[in-house]
Amino acid sequence: MATLDIKDLHVTVDTEDGTKEILKGVDLTIKDGETHAIMGPNGSGKSTLAYSIAGHPKYTVTGGSVTLDGADVLEMSVDERARAGLFLAMQYPVEVPGVSVANFLRTAKTAIDGEAPKLRTWVKDVNGAMEKLSMDPSFSQRSVNEGFSGGEKKRHEIMQLELLDPKVAILDETDSGLDIDALKIVSEGVNRFKQNSDKGVLLITHYTRILRYITPDFVHVFVDGRMAEQGGPELAEELESTGYDKYVSAARA
Ligand code: ADP
Ligand code: MG
Ligand code: MG
Repeated sequence: MATLDIKDLHVTVDTEDGTKEILKGVDLTIKDGETHAIMGPNGSGKSTLAYSIAGHPKYTVTGGSVTLDGADVLEMSVDERARAGLFLAMQYPVEVPGVSVANFLRTAKTAIDGEAPKLRTWVKDVNGAMEKLSMDPSFSQRSVNEGFSGGEKKRHEIMQLELLDPKVAILDETDSGLDIDALKIVSEGVNRFKQNSDKGVLLITHYTRILRYITPDFVHVFVDGRMAEQGGPELAEELESTGYDKYVSAARA
């Protein structure tokens, strides 16, 4: 079972011009087996939502709640959130020079499971994950994100998704910087993950392109720190032709 429940979430960030409210009351419930897409213009607060759920220290929750299967996520440290089953693939992944992909993944897996994975099965799992993503085996020996192309970064994220096996995956702009072949491979990875009936996916994107490969159950339009509209997959197609303008002017009015 995995239900992520976000209620009336308010979040501020400290900027050079003082404290700014970015999330202005976000409501979202992701149940078992559901894929939700959040779409919206640049600067509307989509990444802020992802970072806030993940517990990034830059973001201050000033109101509302986030629970995973009833447990208070906002009370958890970043590590505890990961152990509880939350996974965040970031829009701007950090470089970890000197730490290989293989070691990074093993450390993450150990932290999440509370014990180190058995070496033989682990090597098999890692190689299997790379094969599914059409990655060269030498990839596992490279430093995390160092000199990675856009496509390699995203494949690395999907590798983490496959190996760490979270309950709810939050994918922020997983489609950005991908050519069509990489987009297909990455989408297949997300689809393999979401085939498990107990997994939730929150797919944050600016473009409708990825939604041709990953069919969401729900599409939400996010404008100015709030949900402006929600619907089914057809809403993504509508946005493709209309854009966000009508929602942006409604939010300003
Ligand atoms: P989106 O992902 O929808 O493009 P973001 O969540 O990245 O939007 O940003 C929403 C707003 O919050 C923007 O105005 C952005 O400048 C501001 N913001 C987000 N994170 C920070 C930060 N760490 N420091 C300062 N401002 C931020
Ligand atoms: Mg942005
Ligand atoms: Mg963003």
